[in-house]
Amino acid sequence: MSARIIAIANQKGGVGKTTTGVNLATGLVQLERRVLLVDLDPQANATMGSGIQKAGLTQTIYQVLLGEATVAEARQRSPEGGYDVLPATRDLGGAEVELVQELAREARLKQALAEVEDEYDYILIDSPPSLTLLTLNGLVAAQGVLIPMVCEYYALEGLSDLVTTLRKVRQAVNPKIEILGLVRTMFDARSNLSQQVSGQLAAHFGNKVFETVIPRNVRLAEAPSHGLPGVVYDPSSRGARAYKALAAELLARLETAPVAGIQ
Ligand code: ADP
Ligand code: MG
Repeated sequence: MSARIIAIANQKGGVGKTTTGVNLATGLVQLERRVLLVDLDPQANATMGSGIQKAGLTQTIYQVLLGEATVAEARQRSPEGGYDVLPATRDLGGAEVELVQELAREARLKQALAEVEDEYDYILIDSPPSLTLLTLNGLVAAQGVLIPMVCEYYALEGLSDLVTTLRKVRQAVNPKIEILGLVRTMFDARSNLSQQVSGQLAAHFGNKVFETVIPRNVRLAEAPSHGLPGVVYDPSSRGARAYKALAAELLARLETAPVAGIQ
């Protein structure tokens, strides 16, 4: 069986995309799934947060997108996370310009991942904020989109941008892509606004909203400076436990097949 490919996307920055990518990857590994995390952001936060030093890397996603390296050549193992990473460096920003001249430029990642998709159960793609050719490569490669979001004022407007983008992607390049779910991140259960926005989310997106909520938790924010996923850095922290629960909820949603014969 080939991997389920999930793009983690939101056109807003700072909503927890990378934190979700790194910690969900670790959580899935702890549940014995084989995971590749693709770093599609020139900021390379997912690469560093997975404990991979950018300095020594000669082959990264940049070469992969330009057809100069394969995923198998460029991938690295996150030492503590236990998943593979297709790493990025700052150079990736330049790939955008070079890709424009290439054929099938929005399908480069999809083509490259096809060679390794039998080796993984899940491929998670950490997207940059804003809709770039890089983000588009993620949305073309993926079957589903996981949307981390902060329950604050304007959150829903940001989401409508993404929903519009997805509609266009569906029409033009990837008819099968669907919203897998929305994850509330940096959640403050005591805030009225969080509760209110949460209610609006449920009204718009129904059961697409994951039941698991990721609390605001300083241990999750500290972890990247140690090159560790939060789930490894402080496994008993509230943030780590929430991401482990999210991994379990994702598996329950995706892998529990309906029982045949039961109406
Ligand atoms: P994005 O990838 O969407 O830009 P990040 O995952 O990088 O967002 O998160 C933005 C900032 O917030 C980072 O400094 C990160 O460490 C911090 N952060 C993310 N999730 C949490 C959380 N649940 N609690 C506290 N800090 C968080
Ligand atoms: Mg990020």
